[in-house]
Amino acid sequence: MRQVKFCAGHRLLGHEGKCANLHGHNYLIQFHVTGNEIDELGRVVDFGVINKLFKGWIDDHWDHGFIIWDKDSNALDALEQVRPNKIYRLPYNPTAENMARYLLNEVGPKLIATIKGYDLRLTKVVVWETENASAEVTIDSSRNQADAMLRQVQRANLN
Ligand SMILES: [Zn+2]
Repeated sequence: MRQVKFCAGHRLLGHEGKCANLHGHNYLIQFHVTGNEIDELGRVVDFGVINKLFKGWIDDHWDHGFIIWDKDSNALDALEQVRPNKIYRLPYNPTAENMARYLLNEVGPKLIATIKGYDLRLTKVVVWETENASAEVTIDSSRNQADAMLRQVQRANLN
């Protein structure tokens, strides 16, 4: 497991309370990587390799930037007026749950695939928004979601 700390701004479009305002957090993200094999040094993969990949991606894309839903044109218009700016457009509201889901499903597999010679999987991402609030997404829970969606589709086809 590797941890990455960073700070970023966001807001939750449509939130009924203060999270609708632009604000920021000191985030902590935990990446859980598992592998099927152990290398000749007795490890799944060198921690430094994982760290460089995930911390590098976070530094480049999210650290000291704003993470904004790509449908939130009001916030995007405002932030684009600021020079310089660092804006990351997320395909959904930037809740801790959605950020974890995005890292697990979209970013993680691409990063992991660049590590040659290891059979690795990113199995869990935990996003801590404050020291008391976190959201966790695992490969199994997203598979369950996919199964549930499939069942819905099958049911729709039956009707
Ligand atoms: Zn927030």
